[in-house]
Amino acid sequence: EEHLVIMDETAIRRALTRIAHEIVEKNKGIDDCVIVGIRTRGIYLARRVADRIKEIEGKPVPVSELDITRYRDDRKAADAADVEIASAIGEHAAAPFNVQNKRVILFDDVLYTGRTIRAAMDAIMDCGRPQSIQLAVLVDRGHRELPIRPDFVGKNVPTSKQEQIEVALSEIDAADQVTLINQ
Ligand code: 5GP
Ligand code: MG
Repeated sequence: EEHLVIMDETAIRRALTRIAHEIVEKNKGIDDCVIVGIRTRGIYLARRVADRIKEIEGKPVPVSELDITRYRDDRKAADAADVEIASAIGEHAAAPFNVQNKRVILFDDVLYTGRTIRAAMDAIMDCGRPQSIQLAVLVDRGHRELPIRPDFVGKNVPTSKQEQIEVALSEIDAADQVTLINQ
């Protein structure tokens, strides 16, 4: 097994700072924006970028969380009612959050086939009609099976299907690091 470090702590920090600036630029501010972090690591990335945006714009941007595990079209028992959507503000309330006329920015750690993002878009649309949905990812590893492309990318990493990206974030892992693993 080969391990290759492709982003260290500094590279991750710079990529997230750049994405924060790009989000502000594309949306001409952050009015009506909500960042939605996808299950585990996308949530931490969303929170970090929201912190940066607050430093840049002087205003908070809401962060919500989406658990898409049971919504994927290639997993059985996909059921819209299973999707757990919790507002970061009222984290205990599992009530669908308000996306009506919002600019929703989905955040995930790794983009691969695009199926998770398709499911996330379904879940968002079930909550209302957003003004737009944008996509930010730390790593785009290619191999899309759906017509989905990210608006904001930390790093493009061409991979083979045998390779895997390991994303470690200090909130839950030993340190910040992105590694390419070749089995
Ligand atoms: P997709 O649905 O686009 O096929 O896969 C993206 C989802 O699966 C993301 O939520 C991501 O966390 C996970 N994923 C897919 N490939 C990788 C990978 O190589 N490394 C990591 N860490 N996650 C991956
Ligand atoms: Mg994931």
